[in-house]
Amino acid sequence: MKQFHNFIDGEFAATGNTFDKRTPITNAVIGQVHEAGQAEVDAAVAAARAALKGEWGRMPVTRRVELLYAVADEINRRFDDFLAAELADTGKPHSLASHIDIPRGAANFKVFADIIKNVPTESFEMTTPDGGTAISYALRSPVGVVGVVCPWNLPLLLMTWKVGPALACGNTVIVKPSEETPATATLLGEVMNAVGIPKGVYNVVHGFGPGSAGEYLTRHPGVNAITFTGETRTGEAIMAAAAKGVRPVSFELGGKNAGVVFADADFDKAVAGIMRSAFENCGQVCLGTERVYVQRPIFDKFVAALAAKAAALKIGPPDMPGVGLGPLISAEHKAKVLSYYAKAKAEGATVVTGGGEPDMPAELKDGHWVQPTIWTGLPESAAVIREEIFGPCCHIAPFDTVDEAIALANATDYGLATTVWTQNLSTAHRMAREIEVGLCWINSWFLRDLRTAFGGSKASGIGREGGVHSLEFYTELRNVMVKL
Ligand code: NAD
Repeated sequence: MKQFHNFIDGEFAATGNTFDKRTPITNAVIGQVHEAGQAEVDAAVAAARAALKGEWGRMPVTRRVELLYAVADEINRRFDDFLAAELADTGKPHSLASHIDIPRGAANFKVFADIIKNVPTESFEMTTPDGGTAISYALRSPVGVVGVVCPWNLPLLLMTWKVGPALACGNTVIVKPSEETPATATLLGEVMNAVGIPKGVYNVVHGFGPGSAGEYLTRHPGVNAITFTGETRTGEAIMAAAAKGVRPVSFELGGKNAGVVFADADFDKAVAGIMRSAFENCGQVCLGTERVYVQRPIFDKFVAALAAKAAALKIGPPDMPGVGLGPLISAEHKAKVLSYYAKAKAEGATVVTGGGEPDMPAELKDGHWVQPTIWTGLPESAAVIREEIFGPCCHIAPFDTVDEAIALANATDYGLATTVWTQNLSTAHRMAREIEVGLCWINSWFLRDLRTAFGGSKASGIGREGGVHSLEFYTELRNVMVKL
């Protein structure tokens, strides 16, 4: 049985309190997670604060950059270990984790190492009131100890997306991985030790949110800033915790993203794009599309084409040949998704495909499987159109005009992402200007350049990370004015 220990001050440590980690593939217990209490969180904060004052705090940026490159190289060297850990924790298809999750986990260290090395700060020369000259410039200093609270859907990718820039900027971190996915954050501790990251720079505390490691970490006065990815409701709780001491937050939260397909789109590419955006990672992607709007002339053809592809998805464990859909993360999440499947039926949806649980072989029957599901025919007020489900499902509705598509896409409290399919340049740019989101993909989805801003509008987040925007959160600028 695997033991997922906390990683504090460069050491893996057991606690008296453990909970089971189950794999979503069979629901079997595959490990014991050592829950951090207040004492462990206090120890992690003390270690992280001490590291700021030690070798790490004094380290020249060039050496930091070398070490972060070494972290990325070591993740790549241990690629198979990270892959196995992520697959056991999440059950996602092997091809997805090996092409996206693990490579991005390594890339997140290199990209931000390059950025901190190459991005200059401002400098101005001015004439002073007495006719003299002054030069002012900015120094970047780390914000200090950063609390990193993570979700379970892309565990290594989303965690390193925060840890990479935080360390590049000279901070120390305490990561609280999701209780559902403890493995890769723990493994990263081994990588940190192997490459010589000083003790206390990277720490991991395991546990839940309220009354556990998540709450203890985010309330801790020794934590200077909090970066969080997860549900909007959790963001509200963390924001309240961060109010004490007016500590800054960066939030990447939930979404209810619209996909919009115009009649002039390249039909096959649009079907393939919406297919990915609705069903990749079993629909457990914050950027995913649970509301699809298709222009009326191609509506029936589009629904039929998407339904045929969804129905043909192979459901199964990570290494099954041709697998396209893994399990949901947990029994609890499966119950939530199935409750929405029931609500859709109760509200009068036409179930075009799916709508329930698939027949699985005996050895997998306790896994958290659901069918990929497509609905049509619901009013915009329906729960499955308003609320984030985070499952492999979408509702498709017709529209006629560009104005109507914009109004439909914007009729939500969320504002994370959209994917728009059209060959008309004017329509594409108009959609990009008028849809209220942090990310607008035209004829694409989840295509990321890590140098660019990432984040959500409205209830989907606070702030932007990515490229130089990450530096804004993970450093403070000090203005230095020199009178010559
Ligand atoms: P969640 O909010 O339930 O949990 C996320 C993390 O917060 C976990 O580590 C959890 O233990 C911790 N937590 C929970 N309550 C807490 C509290 N009161 N104080 C401190 N920590 C607490 O989210 P989840 O179910 O793990 O992830 C799915 C959600 O994440 C979806 O809403 C999805 O849209 C969102 N998400 C957003 C993005 C983005 O970039 N915007 C990316 C991925 C996921």
